[in-house]
Amino acid sequence: MRQDRIALAAIAVVIPLAMVATIYTGSQPQGQTGTPAKNKLRVVTSFYPLYDFASHIAGNRANVSSLIPPGIEPHEWEPTLNDVRRVGDADILIINGAGFEGWSRGIGAKTLVNTTEGLDLTQNGGQDHTTGVNPHIWLDPIFAKHQVDMMRAAFARADPANADYYDENAKKFSAELDALDSSIRQDLISCKKSDFISFHDAFKWFAQRYGLVQHSIQGISPEGEILPQKIQETVNLARSLGLKVIYSENLVDSRLSDVIASEIPGAKVLVLSPIEGISNTEKANGIGYIEKMKENVASLKEGLECTQ
Ligand SMILES: [Zn+2]
Repeated sequence: MRQDRIALAAIAVVIPLAMVATIYTGSQPQGQTGTPAKNKLRVVTSFYPLYDFASHIAGNRANVSSLIPPGIEPHEWEPTLNDVRRVGDADILIINGAGFEGWSRGIGAKTLVNTTEGLDLTQNGGQDHTTGVNPHIWLDPIFAKHQVDMMRAAFARADPANADYYDENAKKFSAELDALDSSIRQDLISCKKSDFISFHDAFKWFAQRYGLVQHSIQGISPEGEILPQKIQETVNLARSLGLKVIYSENLVDSRLSDVIASEIPGAKVLVLSPIEGISNTEKANGIGYIEKMKENVASLKEGLECTQ
C-alpha cells in the first residue's frame, strides 16, 4: 500500500467525523421525557446504557431521562446551562464513573450515584487520562449488574415507599443480564479466532470477561485524529492475524474502517457498537442494551469465525 494514499485517506476521514456529530446534534431532541409527573422520583442519567438500566428499575414509578440524547457520542460531550438546570431539578444524577463524565464534578447534583464505585477495576482494563481505568464498564454484563445494583440502592434510598418495587424490577433485569452472559458464552464457544479489531478501545472489559483479545484503531475515545502510521499498523496487524472483519461503530463515520478493510484481501466492515448511544429509530422500536449486545455478539461471531 502506498503511504501517500494512506495519508490522504486519513485526512479524508478525520474531518467528516465532526460533520457527522453536527448532523446528529441537529436532529436530536434535547430531552427524552416530557414534564415529570408530580411526586415521582426524578432521575437523570448521563448517557444511554445507564438510561436503559435505570428505566428498567424505575418502571412506571420514577421519571428517568438521559442528559445526553440518543445518537450523540458521549466521550467529548459537555453540559449546557440547560443541562445543569435539569440536574439541579432532579433528585438523583446517575453516572458511569471511572473518569467517563469529567463534567459531573461540581455540577450541583442533589445525589450523585457513581455506578462503578466498589468494582475492582485494577485488572488492567486499559487506560484513561484521569483515572488510569478503561471506563467502558457497561459492555461487561456482569459489571453491568453491579451498576444496576448501585442504581437500585439509590432509588430505594431516595424513594423508600417504592423500594420493594425497585428491588423487584432490578432483580428481573439482573436475571436478564445473567441470561445474556450465558448466551454470550454459548455463542462464543466454537470460534476459531480470539482476536478482533474494534473501532475504539471500548471492549477491554468485555474481552477480558470472555477470554478474547481486543485491538483497536482508535484509543479510549472514538474521536480524534488518526495518524497514517496507525492505519498501516492496523492493516499489518489484521493481515498477520488473518482477520477478515474490521469493526466500525454506529455513531462514527465508517470510512476509517473502510480504508483499512480495503487493504486486506476479502475483508469487510461490520458494526460493533460500544452502545454509547442508540438512534431514535432504534429507541422507537424498543431496541435496548440487551438487543444491542446480541447484535454485537452476532457481529463478533462472524469476525471470530465461530462455526455455530
Ligand atoms: Zn467509548
